[in-house]
Amino acid sequence: MNGYAGKILRIDLTDRKISNIDTKDYEEWVGGHGMGSALFWDLVKDKTIMGLDPRNVVTIMTSPLSGTLAPGASSRTEVQGIGIQSYPIGWFTRSNFGGRFASMLKYAGWDGIVIEGQADKPVWIDIRNEDVKIKDARHLWGLDTWKTQEEIWREVSGRGYGNWVELGSEERTTQPPAVLTIGPAGENLSVIACLIHDAGHSAGQGGFGAVWGSKKLKAVSVIGTGAVHVADPKGLMEARLWAQAKYSMDLKNIGASWFSRFGRIRPQNVFWKRSEQARLQACIGCHQGCKERSDTGYGNESTCEETSFYQGYDKWKHGGRQTSSAYIATDLLQRYGINAYETSRGLAYIIALLRMGVLGPRGKIQCDLDFNKLGETEFAEQFVRMIAYRKGIGNDFAEGFFRASKRWGRLEEDLKTGTLYYSYWGLPEHGYDPRAEVEWGYGSILGDRDINEHSFTFLFWVPSTTIWAGKTPRPPAEQVVKIYAEKLIPYENNPLMLDYSTENIYSEHMAKLVAWDRHYTRFWKESVLYCDERWPDFINTRISDYRGLTGEGEPRFFNAVTGKKFSFVDGMELGRKIWNLDNAIWTLQGRHRKMVHFSDYIYHIPFAGSGNFAMYYLPGREGGEWKYIRVNGRCLDKGKFEEFKTRFYNLEGWNTRSGWPKRRTLESLGLKSVADELEKKGKLGA
Ligand code: SF4
Repeated sequence: MNGYAGKILRIDLTDRKISNIDTKDYEEWVGGHGMGSALFWDLVKDKTIMGLDPRNVVTIMTSPLSGTLAPGASSRTEVQGIGIQSYPIGWFTRSNFGGRFASMLKYAGWDGIVIEGQADKPVWIDIRNEDVKIKDARHLWGLDTWKTQEEIWREVSGRGYGNWVELGSEERTTQPPAVLTIGPAGENLSVIACLIHDAGHSAGQGGFGAVWGSKKLKAVSVIGTGAVHVADPKGLMEARLWAQAKYSMDLKNIGASWFSRFGRIRPQNVFWKRSEQARLQACIGCHQGCKERSDTGYGNESTCEETSFYQGYDKWKHGGRQTSSAYIATDLLQRYGINAYETSRGLAYIIALLRMGVLGPRGKIQCDLDFNKLGETEFAEQFVRMIAYRKGIGNDFAEGFFRASKRWGRLEEDLKTGTLYYSYWGLPEHGYDPRAEVEWGYGSILGDRDINEHSFTFLFWVPSTTIWAGKTPRPPAEQVVKIYAEKLIPYENNPLMLDYSTENIYSEHMAKLVAWDRHYTRFWKESVLYCDERWPDFINTRISDYRGLTGEGEPRFFNAVTGKKFSFVDGMELGRKIWNLDNAIWTLQGRHRKMVHFSDYIYHIPFAGSGNFAMYYLPGREGGEWKYIRVNGRCLDKGKFEEFKTRFYNLEGWNTRSGWPKRRTLESLGLKSVADELEKKGKLGA
């Protein structure tokens, strides 16, 4: 099987049983999310169980491209299962992380791992090629994520670096094992606990840290000495060199790719002003790293929200100067295994409550945090530790700040005012607010979590930052929209899909954009595992006609590895199938159209700019002309959003009264057995 190891590791922690699933049985789903959803569907008979139920199954999946030279696709790992973070129901959900875990799993001979049951005492899983053992983890329980990994590295590969690890008479490597682990937050079942790999790769959303904690699973370690069989190695190398030369960053003209995901510069010091020596760091196989390693060792491999969540407080405390506090706060999140978006929005929330006089020494909500130290390392440590160990008010924080607000009797009021900046499913707003970046908001509320997929966010970033700098955005809106629209197959050449004007955001065109994004990401990004940081590449200003890699690139690498003849649109159709299977699972969990709505403030507080940027421009038509239009100041109209939902459900072939999938739709996708199951449970859309 080109691109596949051929088997999936199945581990039942209750019975300590280790077995294999033949990858061929799930090959039609390709890999990653598709395979994970299909495995979950087959193995979890009762979809209404809670995330901490021992019957919950967690899948950790790779793709055929994992461990190969496909750019930005070798390293990602998809994690799925019933989560505990969303509200009112912990949806069947997903998270994803980079690094070297996926490739190492493939080199060890596995396409994925399925974890079932619950151990009676702490365990870790030790995978050395074919040799898999469930081991006692009592000596690891209580350690932070970095110390846990160091202990396992020592146990598997001895002290020091670069040791030869013998895995058989002819199999050896100098690589340390790749370890995925939980920290104290996961052990203490915090709703906002993550899985951490290496220094700063985390599967953040969903609360999978606590799901592992409830299973008494401390870590999974894998080391392998094999390889991935590639159907056309020459074709793969040629494709890599072609993409590198044409679409990647031009080292002689670094600014040329200012409008491109595949080629842009994006190290973490976009957020940090490092004064020490640092170099770029990439996940395995990536053509263009977005992470860093520094000579101080602070903040290594972390990127995005965890790098920025404490920076503002650090600067505020230190007269506008950044100190090491911001880096150390980042590392604390990684070490204790805590979700960065929850801590970021949560900290802002409790500071707002402090200022309102409802939290702290003068307020009804007693809080033992020392806010005089805000901005110092000491405060960050106190805050993170009280969440991880559920100390004092940290016991409320550990439930996530949405549930904490509910405990304090403030939820309704704070969602009305937007003081609690949580837009959908009890989850923190990511910064691409539904009132502005509608495809992000709609995709999130119609799915299971904040989508965290940046397919269209450059439509905001490029014009907004350019206009803020007093310049004219290039290329102009009309040209940008035309190029994007060409690539929105199978809805191609419909520019109205990219019209973010208030008149258009509830239209069928916008429904198509949301559907395109859901189908694209479910397959190309979450199943084939192209990294969201680099894909899709609609526009690439390094190219004379500005047409990016997307459409041609995705199937080219995939086919070179697998030997299949898969087209871009084949992938979109499979993405639609996976998205429908997910909706069937949510339906069985209890989802109904009535639940699909945003938090109150989205409907009546005008959007004043996001955590990302105060001025928010997106393409849209004004007076019949394409422009970058300012979308600040608008709210969503509740009634019109309901009309949008009807349009979206119609487009997807779901029942418009319930949002449940219809038999005709499921059967057309080859999901007859799913339709039968929904019918049996009285949940089939009429
Ligand atoms: S772009 Fe960044 S996160 Fe994505 S694969 Fe490359 S290094 Fe990893």
